[in-house]
Amino acid sequence: MRKILIADPSGVLLPKLLASPAGKNYSFASVSQGDEVFSAIQQHGAELVVLDLMLPKMHGIELLQRIRSDEKLRKIGVIIISTNMMTQNLHAALVKGVDYFLPRPVDIELLFSLFERFYKGTLHPDNIEQKSTFVEEESFYKPITHDPHSYIKFWGTRGSNPVSGPEYMRFGGNTACLEVRHGKDRIIIDAGTGIRPLGHAIEHNDAKTVHLFLSHTHWDHITGFPFFGPLYNPDREIIIWSPIGFEKPTRELFTEILAYSYFPVRLEDIKAKLQFNDLREGYPVSIGDITIDSHFAYHPGATYCFKIHVAGKKYGYATDNEMFLGYHGHPNAIGKDSPLLKSHKSIIDFFTGCDVLIHEAQYTPQEYQRRVGWGHSSVANAALLCKYAQIKEWIVTHHDPKHSDEDLLRKLQMQKDILAECHIPCHVQSAFDSLTLPI
Ligand SMILES: [Zn+2]
Ligand SMILES: [Zn+2]
Repeated sequence: MRKILIADPSGVLLPKLLASPAGKNYSFASVSQGDEVFSAIQQHGAELVVLDLMLPKMHGIELLQRIRSDEKLRKIGVIIISTNMMTQNLHAALVKGVDYFLPRPVDIELLFSLFERFYKGTLHPDNIEQKSTFVEEESFYKPITHDPHSYIKFWGTRGSNPVSGPEYMRFGGNTACLEVRHGKDRIIIDAGTGIRPLGHAIEHNDAKTVHLFLSHTHWDHITGFPFFGPLYNPDREIIIWSPIGFEKPTRELFTEILAYSYFPVRLEDIKAKLQFNDLREGYPVSIGDITIDSHFAYHPGATYCFKIHVAGKKYGYATDNEMFLGYHGHPNAIGKDSPLLKSHKSIIDFFTGCDVLIHEAQYTPQEYQRRVGWGHSSVANAALLCKYAQIKEWIVTHHDPKHSDEDLLRKLQMQKDILAECHIPCHVQSAFDSLTLPI
């Protein structure tokens, strides 16, 4: 009887060998781990071993090497089987003296023919080359991917002031600017410094009209405006939608910031056709298939939060919104009957049902103690908004210019910790310049 040891962690080979009519000429033993092979060879008196290359506890190549350097065992036949047909493995097996290297899944008839050849003394390894497999077009996996022309892209995620330097490489330093694109329709929200590269990116597209929505006219939301390339194209029309300010109309404010003392091009010299429109809460604006809704934010001056309806989804967007002004307590201490919660019902209702809420959380609870009334939320109070608006996906933007990448990573962990501690089932991530969400 010919004695063969099968070392196969999957255990599928032995039953197939035993089930084959050719199997009756052989006596098989089997092990499933590399460190059991040596004693099993001796106990069984095996003349041939079939080894899986990646045996637990001892790699097939190490076993081969040990067999070939052992005085008593060196003549034993070794067939290595593997799904790992990589060149370095084949090469190592050949160099160490393998009798054959066979790919898995194993063809049982072929394996029996190899046994025959071994016992006749004619088994030699084929010069196996790793084959690059050509697959027919219709048989390889092609993932279904999102439409590359339908997305929300963050062009600026910094609040208050642009920043630069190695400590801001990860999240970026441009101030607020968001692009929402759905096929041929596109809107831009805020004209912080992020609008400059956005203008460059859309320079050559053929959309004649650009719709720019301003949440408010604080510097971090308008300083990129003069550097927005499409302004200097006479074939473009830029329509600006903004809240009615407490002091002067937006056109007048823009005329003032574009005085010669500040910038060499005045508003009246801008080549594109400019139109200024008032944005009113409760009066949504539709641009093609994108609809944008506004709600006043808790922020100094007339400031809007937005809700974007596109492709059947709702995205909330609030860069400057101080939720629960002056509240420093535990988020769970605010129950659903709390007067503080009831006084914020309108804005909570506005965001309820959003698939994604893009909302600032500029300060840690510690920092917020000294920033009450500055118009920005603490992480804990923003988390409370997510809780009551039943938000499942929260993206934090409008990062504090004092926060380095390391600070923002620490703050992100704090956001996750607060959500977990308060049992708020919401996933959170931090926005960075160029983050793109498929719609
Ligand atoms: Zn801001
Ligand atoms: Zn502001």
